[in-house]
Amino acid sequence: MVRVGVNGFGTIGRRVAQAVTLQPDMELVGVVKTRPDYAALQAAKAGIRIYAPSSESLEAFEKAGIRVEGTVEDLLSRVDVIVDATPNGVGEKYKPLYRDAGVRQVFQGGEKPSVADASFNTLCNYREVLGLDSVRVVSCNTTGLLRLICTINRGIGVSSVSAVLIRRAADPREVKRGPVNSINLNPPTVPSHHALDVKTVVPSIDIVTSAVVVPTTLMHVHHVTITLKRDSSRREVLSLLEEAPRIILIDSGRTGIKSTAQLMDAVRFMRRNGDLPELAVFTDSIHVEGRRLMLFQAVHQESIVVPENIDAIRALARLTEDPMESIRVTDETLGLTKEIF
Ligand code: NAD
Repeated sequence: MVRVGVNGFGTIGRRVAQAVTLQPDMELVGVVKTRPDYAALQAAKAGIRIYAPSSESLEAFEKAGIRVEGTVEDLLSRVDVIVDATPNGVGEKYKPLYRDAGVRQVFQGGEKPSVADASFNTLCNYREVLGLDSVRVVSCNTTGLLRLICTINRGIGVSSVSAVLIRRAADPREVKRGPVNSINLNPPTVPSHHALDVKTVVPSIDIVTSAVVVPTTLMHVHHVTITLKRDSSRREVLSLLEEAPRIILIDSGRTGIKSTAQLMDAVRFMRRNGDLPELAVFTDSIHVEGRRLMLFQAVHQESIVVPENIDAIRALARLTEDPMESIRVTDETLGLTKEIF
C-alpha cells in the first residue's frame, strides 16, 4: 500500500482524496485543510484525517470542534507520496518542504512545468515518469487535448493540431469570479499557453491553440482540427475513440444532448457525485475529409484530472509499469465504464 497525503482540499484535492480511498493499492493518510468550513466538516464525518498548514491554524479547527492530527510537516512524515492541490503557484512554495521530507510529489497544472521532473498524461507518457521524484498532472484543458491527440496519434498519426478553447468562467462553487456578461479573449494573444502545455508532455507535436472565457460554470468546450498523417475516415476515427479509455461519445441524435447543460444534467442523474472525468466527444461533430479531422469535445474541469492523479501516484511509486493496468484499476474503482447512456 502506498501511503498518500493530499495538500489543498478544494475542487481538485477533495476529488483526488476521495479517489485515493477507493484504490486497492493506496491508503489516504490525511489531507491538509486551511479552514474549518463545510468541506472540513464533511471530511471529518467521512473519517478522513485532517492536518493544518501551520500550528497557528490549529485553534480555529479546535473552536469548530474538528479534530486535527497535526501540521503539514506531520503529514509529510507519514506518507510516501503527497498530492499538491493548492492554488496556482502555492505548490512551488511547498516544494522544498516536500523534498526535505523525502516524499514523492504530484503537482497540478496551475504550477509551472519546472516544479516537477516531468509533466504527465497517462495515455501519452506513463512509462517515461516511472519512479521519478515528482510529476505535474497538466491542466484540465490540456488533459482533454492530450487524451484526444495521443489516441489519434497512436491509431492514425497526427501531423498538426489547431484548437479553439471555449473556457468556463468559474467552478460552480466559486462565488466571486466572472465574466457575467461578456466573452473574454483569454489570453488575447495566439497561441494561448495551452499549446505550450501540451508540448510539455509531447514536445514534438505541432500545435496552436487560442482561448476565450464565457459565462458558464459547467464545462469547457474545445473545437479541435487535426491534420492527420494519412487519409482516414469518420468510421476509423469513431472506432478509435470507441476503444480508447476515458473518452465517451455523445450521440446528439440518439440522446438529444447538444449542450454542456444537457450533458451535465444527464451525468448528475447517472453518477452519485455528478462528475464526468471522461472526455466527452460529440459524435455528430466528427468530420473527416482526407487528412483533416474536426470535432467538438467537452471537458468537465472539476474532475477530468482525477484519474490522471491516481495514475501519477501509481507511476511514481512504480506500482505497475503498465499504463493500461493502471487505467484499468483506476477506471474500475471510479466507475468509468464508457457506457454512460
Ligand atoms: P481550489 O481553490 O478549489 O482549492 C485549493 C485549496 O487549497 C483550497 O481549499 C484552499 O483553501 C487550499 N489552500 C490555499 N492555500 C493553501 C496552503 N498554503 N496550504 C494548503 N492548502 C491551501 O483550487 P483547485 O481548483 O482545486 O485548483 C488546485 C490546482 O488544480 C491548481 O493548480 C489548478 O490550476 C489545478 N486545476 C484546477 C482545475 C479546476 O477547474 N478547478 C482543473 C484542473 C487543474
